[in-house]
Amino acid sequence: MSFKYKVYSEALKEKYGEKVYKLPINLPLTCPNRDGTKGTGGCIFCGETAAGFESLPCNMSIKSQLERNMDYIGSRYGAKKFIAFFQNFTNTYTDTETFRKNIYETAIANIVETCVSTRPDCISEKYLDILKEFSVETGINVSLELGLQSSNENTLKIINRGHGLKEFENAVKLVHSYGFPVCAHVIIDLPWDTDDDVIKTAKILSRLKVEGVKMHSLYVVKGTKLAEMYESGEVTLLSKDDYVRRAILFLKYLDKNCAIERIIGRAPLIFLLYKY
Ligand code: SF4
Repeated sequence: MSFKYKVYSEALKEKYGEKVYKLPINLPLTCPNRDGTKGTGGCIFCGETAAGFESLPCNMSIKSQLERNMDYIGSRYGAKKFIAFFQNFTNTYTDTETFRKNIYETAIANIVETCVSTRPDCISEKYLDILKEFSVETGINVSLELGLQSSNENTLKIINRGHGLKEFENAVKLVHSYGFPVCAHVIIDLPWDTDDDVIKTAKILSRLKVEGVKMHSLYVVKGTKLAEMYESGEVTLLSKDDYVRRAILFLKYLDKNCAIERIIGRAPLIFLLYKY
């Protein structure tokens, strides 16, 4: 059996008429699931640096981070258009004035889109209003990335997400009401999920009409709760073949208009206790 899925880089090419690259921005933030506001300890798979394995230091200004990465990617790939991507931690977990200042700092030459990654329970009208105003004033497009990981409520509890499926659904609807596209993050091979859960997640994302998905595998970062569980034998991870099988299953049930940004997540080996 073979089938096609929509590739994000191709979708960007269609939208912007040429190749477009995402430039990660690393801010000195944390996450309400780590500091006790929503939960403590964070998601069991999330390490000290969260997703910022390859980011520039968070004490660099946003403009400097963008310009440094733009120079590097521009000269390496001949890219001319870029997306400013607030990637690490929870980028709406800050007061609105700081958020506004951060967002407006991305309005520099060659940035065609500003993308904000956050938790579904940390997005509200006050941040979306700022993003709308920014987009109208600057002509720069806006998009959001929201973590779901699984649609199984029991799995969400085990991985200590600190939110449920309902919050994710409400967040997607709210973001869409502003006309901004959403990219959802999912971990395909969570051992507490069944194949049916993976299918259910794909169907829910299709029903919600999310515009994009980043698919991840469950790699074990040193120093995390998941690392403890793995070392003590409390959890057995799925194999590479299981990932491939589930990824195919997920893609089969996902709406074909949804663009795949990542078919698997990765982290530098030095941070990992286990990977395929
Ligand atoms: S919500 Fe994101 S930053 Fe916060 S603990 Fe979970 S993975 Fe880490």
